[in-house]
Amino acid sequence: MTQSSTETRSLRAAIIPVTPFQQNCTLLWDEATKRGAVIDPGGDLDDVRRAVAEVGIDVEKIVLTHGHIDHAGGAAELKEALDVAIEGPHPADRFLLDNLEKQGASYGIPARPVTPDRWLDEGDTVTIGGHVFEVLHCPGHSPGSVVLVNRANRLILMGDVLFRGSIGRTDFPYGDHDALIGAITTKLLPLGDDFTFICGHGPASTLGEERRSNPFLPR
Ligand SMILES: [Zn+2]
Ligand SMILES: [Zn+2]
Repeated sequence: MTQSSTETRSLRAAIIPVTPFQQNCTLLWDEATKRGAVIDPGGDLDDVRRAVAEVGIDVEKIVLTHGHIDHAGGAAELKEALDVAIEGPHPADRFLLDNLEKQGASYGIPARPVTPDRWLDEGDTVTIGGHVFEVLHCPGHSPGSVVLVNRANRLILMGDVLFRGSIGRTDFPYGDHDALIGAITTKLLPLGDDFTFICGHGPASTLGEERRSNPFLPR
């Protein structure tokens, strides 16, 4: 994530894989001010809090990309521990956040329901450590999935919409494959090949790499 301009060089990220799903809980912060956010604290909060202490950042907020247990399961507890607000996802995922305890029980993950302090919608912006992210509503994997785009750093927080070599699952009762492909092809790929993205599982990639080689995308 090394950037070429001094103005944008200060955005930093650290990944903490959490829960049995190895979800990429992400710390994102401004290196100059050491202020930042925790994105998708699905669980294993001891690991998350240790990482926060190691990088020495002041957590301003929690951001949720969508309502699945591996992303949101620890949000209520971490919010209380850090006394910060939760932003996201889109309100179409309210039923998942209301249902987190039941989602967790089926996987043996302790979790509590959570209500965000701020729901997000297409066109909103989220600020993390002073860096502005544009919100794209990208349903399909879940109805309320949001993707956060920082143009200055060419960085995307992807959630489970698009992965390196794969796309988000849509085999849930509320999944929508056509909507997912539509969001990827009409909202994400046009942003530009040089965008790097951090996704919910597995290694990061770029939009260009996925546009060229992702076998799940139409071409
Ligand atoms: Zn998910
Ligand atoms: Zn996930």
